[in-house]
Amino acid sequence: MNSTGSHTHAPGTAADNCLFCKIAIGKIPSRKVYEDGELLAFHDISPWAPVHFLIIPKAHIASMAQLGPEHQSLLGRMMLLAPRLALEQGCRPYPDGGYRIVTNTGAEGGQEVHHLHIHVMGGPRPWLRG
Ligand code: 5GP
Ligand code: ZN
Repeated sequence: MNSTGSHTHAPGTAADNCLFCKIAIGKIPSRKVYEDGELLAFHDISPWAPVHFLIIPKAHIASMAQLGPEHQSLLGRMMLLAPRLALEQGCRPYPDGGYRIVTNTGAEGGQEVHHLHIHVMGGPRPWLRG
């Protein structure tokens, strides 16, 4: 594929010309928030909020639209990691603090980088956007 849809690469390997695959393998530097065998979190280069980082699977998945039952635990891990890392990054606790978790999917969903990611945004308002 081009990094927007079908999969011509073997599952679990980096897609050619995918920005977040390059970040996942360290070919492009990022400010890391968290890393384990299957996930990476790093600060967004253009933050909307005082705290704004992304959580990605290291393996290339283009978007939410490509997910199947085999990804259930991966998605569960991403969603459970978000609150933990949000607090570690300085978001105040619920209910007075909190954070926003966003996933853009496809062009009309506002997705610009076609490697699955969740945005985690938080911190004192006002925010630049959102
Ligand atoms: P999307 O619009 O696809 O949901 O979000 C892509 C996000 O990736 C944007 O918020 C954008 O600022 C961020 N981004 C784009 N290029 C880079 C980069 O090279 N490094 C980092 N850390 N973030 C990036
Ligand atoms: Zn990728």
